[in-house]
Amino acid sequence: MDINNPLVMLVDDEVPFVETTTKRLERRNLNILQAFNGREALEQLKEHRNVDVIILDVKMPGMDGIETLQEIKKASPLSEVIMLTGHATVESAIEGMKLGAFDYLMKPCEIEQLVSKVEEATKKKREHEEKIREAKVREALSQHG
Ligand SMILES: [Mg+2]
Repeated sequence: MDINNPLVMLVDDEVPFVETTTKRLERRNLNILQAFNGREALEQLKEHRNVDVIILDVKMPGMDGIETLQEIKKASPLSEVIMLTGHATVESAIEGMKLGAFDYLMKPCEIEQLVSKVEEATKKKREHEEKIREAKVREALSQHG
């Protein structure tokens, strides 16, 4: 990609999965923030408003993926969310899509597949931001015209 490296937050209650996936994604020039539950994800988001993509586990103790998704969308509507699901929770992932998730992937997923989804989601998010910037410029110009 010819844009700045995506800032990605990885949210999953399986610590070894988060650690391994972080290393793999960092090797592909993605900047990674980690969270091990929904609350931590929301805390991270307060400090890092510019997160491009959030990779979100559906099944977590406490706040589950769907609840976390809804809070993420309130706090940072432009951040794109990719849900990670197992066979048992596909329904939840589909529910997530209805609630504004960008896409979902089945666990275990290939790292290349995850990277390509992250890049697609980053592109969408940044195009969206650009449109908002352009609209603001147009608005400002029309007020001065
Ligand atoms: Mg889990």
